[in-house]
Amino acid sequence: MATTKSRIIMKEMKRIPLKHGSAHVDKDVSPETVEALNKMCELAYEMASEPLRLSDVVESSFEIVDAHKEFVFNNACPYCKCRLTYVAEGWEEDDNGQWMVDSFDMQCSSEPDMDKTKEWEEWFTVHSQMPYVHQLPVDTKVKNWINSKYRFKLD
Ligand SMILES: [Zn+2]
Repeated sequence: MATTKSRIIMKEMKRIPLKHGSAHVDKDVSPETVEALNKMCELAYEMASEPLRLSDVVESSFEIVDAHKEFVFNNACPYCKCRLTYVAEGWEEDDNGQWMVDSFDMQCSSEPDMDKTKEWEEWFTVHSQMPYVHQLPVDTKVKNWINSKYRFKLD
């Protein structure tokens, strides 16, 4: 018994000329042929309605990089406009079992040597002001951007 949907496909298929002979299927078609075509339609419909496996699509669209790849962003520091370098240090699995970055080690290129205590303290004072307002939006943007393009190779 043909379902409504396969009947709709049938209607479409009737417009396609048969391989042999010049007649279209909508003329002089035997009940056996209709039944056979209906079965084909049902099968085709079942195959077409199978859910698309996301992993087939997604896997090929990401660039796979080393777990500790450095990501450098010029003029990105919200405090001093210097260069920021992000290196992943925590990862989480996506729905396809691939690794996305979850947390970073981040460094501003203007950070002085820790030995230069006074200089470093001044730098730190500037760079620790309201991180949720200044630093977090930058980090979130970086994280989203990286996770939209890359997956990490962990072993
Ligand atoms: Zn900075």
